[in-house]
Amino acid sequence: MIRTGKQYIDGLGPDREIYIGGRLVRDVTSYAPFRSVIDSYAALYDLKHDPAHRDVLTYATGDGEERADVSFLLPQTPEDVVRRGDALRLFSNTSLGMLSRSPDIMNSQLAGIADNADWFRQWGDQWAENITNYYRYVRDNDLFLTHALGSPQTDRSKPSHQQKDPSMNVHVVRETDAGLIVSGAKQLATAAPLTDELLVWPNARGLVPGDEAYCVAFAIPVNSPGLKCFCREPLVTDVRNAYDHPISSRFEEIDALIVFDEVLVPWDRVFFYNNLEAATTMRFMAQGLALAHHSTAVQGVVRAGLTAALAYRIAETIQIGGFPNVGEKLGRLVAFLKTIEGLVYLAEHKPAKTPNGNWVPDRDAIQAYNVVFPEFNAEAYKMIRRLSGAGMMLTPSLADFTGPGAQVANRFFAGADTEGWERVQVFKLAWDLVGESVGQRVLLYDEFHSGDPMFFAANYARGADVAEWTSLLDGVLAGGADLYRSGRG
Ligand SMILES: Cc1cc2nc3c(=O)[nH]c(=O)nc-3n(C[C@H](O)[C@H](O)[C@H](O)COP(=O)(O)OP(=O)(O)OC[C@H]3O[C@@H](n4cnc5c(N)ncnc54)[C@H](O)[C@@H]3O)c2cc1C
Repeated sequence: MIRTGKQYIDGLGPDREIYIGGRLVRDVTSYAPFRSVIDSYAALYDLKHDPAHRDVLTYATGDGEERADVSFLLPQTPEDVVRRGDALRLFSNTSLGMLSRSPDIMNSQLAGIADNADWFRQWGDQWAENITNYYRYVRDNDLFLTHALGSPQTDRSKPSHQQKDPSMNVHVVRETDAGLIVSGAKQLATAAPLTDELLVWPNARGLVPGDEAYCVAFAIPVNSPGLKCFCREPLVTDVRNAYDHPISSRFEEIDALIVFDEVLVPWDRVFFYNNLEAATTMRFMAQGLALAHHSTAVQGVVRAGLTAALAYRIAETIQIGGFPNVGEKLGRLVAFLKTIEGLVYLAEHKPAKTPNGNWVPDRDAIQAYNVVFPEFNAEAYKMIRRLSGAGMMLTPSLADFTGPGAQVANRFFAGADTEGWERVQVFKLAWDLVGESVGQRVLLYDEFHSGDPMFFAANYARGADVAEWTSLLDGVLAGGADLYRSGRG
């Protein structure tokens, strides 16, 4: 099944427990600050029904006439990996790479986890079956997922069972015939109030013997009784237009702490529990989730491309491109973009076969993206600020270019070859992208979405393949070692 945007919105239902801005919101579609981003997610569902894009964005699952979103596809051939990339680029171009929880991200992640069903089988067939069935259920109903892995930022120096309040972190309270009862909190889940389901598993960091009850992985509908989303303050509460706020008018995704108050998780939604070994090794399996990182990296390419194009447009608008200091910044920005594009190209065109015979993008290349992109992006945002100067701040509103002062505004805000409204529009995009809170949030997301960047890079170092270069190095050292052994000084 391929849902339409309307079906996604209708599915959000009136029975959630969302705490935001001092209110309890049951029906998220009625809460004004959520409306524009709900429409942005809905647009991605509608895109799949556009005859021009249907074949790129959907595929036949093999179950009769059924089609599914391509981001659920477990590539059967190397060409399927490229095919996935084409679909991800189309989704990302539509959302300008600004929806960090666009549905394709978790669809890809779930597909990657399902490909590792045998990893779950180590502890029993039922866990492998549960994850496989869950993947099929989400795929066939075209559901929207987010995930919540970390524990609340309470006291990072102590494991879960030694916290001042040991019931703080998500843990199994008891087993029942119907399933597990879980309580405690998880942080953070992007877009949780606006998704259908939540995937929960433990962040391995800091788990030690004694923490077994906290070692639980499961999936659950967001409207499950006892599940509460505590949101951060919305970054956008006013109604914004696409001229004044081209980014923040559409992409304020919201983030939430998830509280489980004696929530029943049915057995068929449990993937493991009371399992320290699974919890502490899952990240190595999860790090093999090149499909999920593929989605994120494609978003990064789109954002890097938008940023580079914006820098060129700023330079052209106020004619600063001829200055060597500006040329150097433009050159570096394009080099960032090409580096990121190159990593994604390499990942897509040098895929690896998984033990199940499926294909995934090259893990080293796609994870290298996660290591370098946050630094590139922070530098790129700084360059946009440098190129913009005060132009990014001195930006009247659309109303000023259509109101009584329009003539004056169009004259005195003019660019080298543009009227005032046109020059200001470019700088408004610059501010919305790199200065506004929604843009700043994306920068933070880039840094932390794969977990603590320091741990991510360290884990990457452990698994990366440098064998080819190690042989070269050994060859160089061997020459000196021969000299040493020969005693010729
Ligand atoms: C915008 C945004 C969106 C996100 N969306 C999601 C989402 O949808 N789902 C999800 O599951 N997660 C999400 N995350 C959370 C993300 O996974 C975490 O931010 C990340 O795992 C780091 O954990 P933390 O933020 O709790 O930082 P902490 O772990 O509290 O780290 C804070 C600082 O303390 C240091 N530190 C903490 N513990 C140790 C230690 N043991 N050893 C050494 N140094 C330590 C860290 O290096 C860091 O400098 C999101 C984060 C952001 C910012």
